[in-house]
Amino acid sequence: MLDFEIKKKNGLMRAGEITTPHGKIMTPAFIVAGTKAAVKAMSVPQVQDLGGQAILSNTYHLMLQPGVSVIAEAGGLAKFMGFDGATFTDSGGFQIMSLPKVKIKNDEVIFRSHINGEKLTISPRISMQAQHQIGADIHMAFDCPIGYGSTDTARENAEKTLRITHDWAAQSLAEHSRLNAEHLVRGENTQALFGVVQGGEFEDLRAKSARFFASMDFDGFGIGGMYVAEKSRKFLQIVDEILPDEKPRHWLGMGAEPIDIFTGVELGIDTFDCVAPTRQARNGALYTFSGRLNIGNAKYKTDFAPIDSECQCAVCQGGITRAYLSHLFRAGELLAFTLASIHNEFFVVNLTSRIRQSVLDGSFRELRDNFLGKYYNT
Ligand SMILES: [Zn+2]
Repeated sequence: MLDFEIKKKNGLMRAGEITTPHGKIMTPAFIVAGTKAAVKAMSVPQVQDLGGQAILSNTYHLMLQPGVSVIAEAGGLAKFMGFDGATFTDSGGFQIMSLPKVKIKNDEVIFRSHINGEKLTISPRISMQAQHQIGADIHMAFDCPIGYGSTDTARENAEKTLRITHDWAAQSLAEHSRLNAEHLVRGENTQALFGVVQGGEFEDLRAKSARFFASMDFDGFGIGGMYVAEKSRKFLQIVDEILPDEKPRHWLGMGAEPIDIFTGVELGIDTFDCVAPTRQARNGALYTFSGRLNIGNAKYKTDFAPIDSECQCAVCQGGITRAYLSHLFRAGELLAFTLASIHNEFFVVNLTSRIRQSVLDGSFRELRDNFLGKYYNT
């Protein structure tokens, strides 16, 4: 189970504390993406050193590799990774529905492994059983993202996939409750389940989905199918005005640009995750307080300043220069990925901590305007 305490609320935004069996998450918090039980190019101590409070892994990927029974035998996801903190799993719905030739039959999804082409089946029940074996603290209900069955018109498709998502949410919750009862009998920790609000880009469907989930006994909520703040703003507002205050809300796979983080917090999101900080890092795109920097630019070859002299990360404070990083990227040295990832992940995790502090002390708008003004050079 999950304990969520709101410390300060202002409009929709709030600062709080989620307590899981593996530790607390001070919210709003950026949850570090560790899709395959690994944060790309980074070790777990590096993630913890930069302030990463929780890691989110993907059920689909872990089912294929190494298989959920291996993780269960290790003592659960956190132990398997050697991570001393809270963990999340998403249901795998999004990844599976993105595969080619996916079929839904009687609440089961038939698909082929992207690794070896093997024909496999997943369902809400199978996803919940897998998530319980993986043993993260917070699970997501198995949902049906809107992209499925693209021959329909957008509206029909959104209505159909929302009906499926709601049916599957009820099935996920029933199976989750049954598995939690088994944990209790064995004297184990119970696990938390978030229902995932969908509805695409339709205000009424978003509201309908939020009302559906608000009426059910989930421990919190995921919000899926929205990526960037500009397009998501009104949908986040509709959804968060309906969802009950006392349960945490996680924005699944948001954009991770500073504006997305500020907007999410302002509209009542408590936790969010995104693969972008490490993905961008591997492409040499680095966050700085005055905007994005691309280390591939020739002018950095002899620039002996840190990535960002204001940044407090281990790389910027440890004597690593733009010139050195530029060299590592050009030379194809793997260290480039690690150093760039530490900097980027630190940037978003700590920006979110600063935003949390600003919610607590009432300076959110001032921080947002100053930060975004400088970042986007407006
Ligand atoms: Zn840095």
